[in-house]
Amino acid sequence: MMNEPPYWREPLHEVFTVTVRSCIKEKKEYLIEIAEDVIRAAGGGQDGDRGILRINGQEVSILNTAKQDSRLLLITEEPVEPDQVVQLVIDLKWRKAMMQNHTAEHLFVATMKKISPSYKLGYIWIDGEKGVVDIMGPPLDFETVVKAEKEVTRLIEARIPVEIEIVDAAELDDEVRAREGLASKHEKVRIVQVGDYDSSACSGTHVFNTYDIEAFKVIDYRTVEGGTRIEFLTSSRALEEMVKVYNTTLEKKHSYPYEMDQLGDILDKAKELIHERQWIVQHLSRLMTEGKNIESIENTDFWTEYLPGLDMKEVRSIIRDYPMEGKLAILFFLPGVKSSLIFWTNELPEDASHYISDIVTSLGGRGGGSRDVYTGGFADSPNPEEIYNEIISQLRKRLTS
Ligand SMILES: [Zn+2]
Repeated sequence: MMNEPPYWREPLHEVFTVTVRSCIKEKKEYLIEIAEDVIRAAGGGQDGDRGILRINGQEVSILNTAKQDSRLLLITEEPVEPDQVVQLVIDLKWRKAMMQNHTAEHLFVATMKKISPSYKLGYIWIDGEKGVVDIMGPPLDFETVVKAEKEVTRLIEARIPVEIEIVDAAELDDEVRAREGLASKHEKVRIVQVGDYDSSACSGTHVFNTYDIEAFKVIDYRTVEGGTRIEFLTSSRALEEMVKVYNTTLEKKHSYPYEMDQLGDILDKAKELIHERQWIVQHLSRLMTEGKNIESIENTDFWTEYLPGLDMKEVRSIIRDYPMEGKLAILFFLPGVKSSLIFWTNELPEDASHYISDIVTSLGGRGGGSRDVYTGGFADSPNPEEIYNEIISQLRKRLTS
């Protein structure tokens, strides 16, 4: 017959009388062995319980609980006299948070299995702050993560009872999620059932109803070897995090200003600006060390610059004070989602358009100009650098002929 620890069926039982067997100092901590199996040690991917020991009106904090060779050890900062009976009080705040996080983990993994049975559970860690779980298989994209998150929220709102059953390991059927080799290690196995949504072999602590999880939020997902690591929060911890993130953006909303649903676009713009700035720094450093990007083609100075982050007006003002003397061909290219360019000539036999107009048109752009200036643009230019290089290479040929 298997001994069922009390926290399996009554995880909210708070106070126990326990016997201290021994107390050993290990580094800065004390390991206090107790006789009764009433507090859950770390194991099976779940952190240990916290709590306090009450000894003659004195309180000793339990920092964590561990199991070593089937001995149950309380980890404390202070020693406790062995061979005495003391009161053990479970930290129910920590315990409840683990119950919420662990049950949410069951719901998330079961949902992933329903999305595709090929997904397998990898690494798992549950404590009183958050849950971490690796979903092994093809990397999860954002849409799938959000879909699973939504389903977990639906299950929480559906108020599904969570029940515990102890069964013979030999009777485990394929419907029950269980780690490989589990049935061969144990005679009896504890099954955690979430209605008829999920059955899973597990020794952790769980809530009584999915509604007790209160809230679920994935706070990160990233690719790890062989799968995707998901980090999540539940209950008040999820709400606090969401409030924190929302208020960070709310504080800035009026000073910038923007609407909340524009946040994604704003982040994209910020990334683009950083990229442009890197270009400008590179550009500036080249200008300062090597000078302007000028080559000489048959007595014509051919000057080309790739200028991200600048607009047409700014570029015109840069060139305004440039001394236009001798034979010149100057191309400034302003890359972006919509790229534009300006081409100046001086003392060349033909109009500026003569040299560049066909090139721009053949690359999908349009433009026009006067004797010495041509301006053009590309409505859609996913690869502006390619367009820029192509224009230069064709202009070289035009200037030669
Ligand atoms: Zn579990």
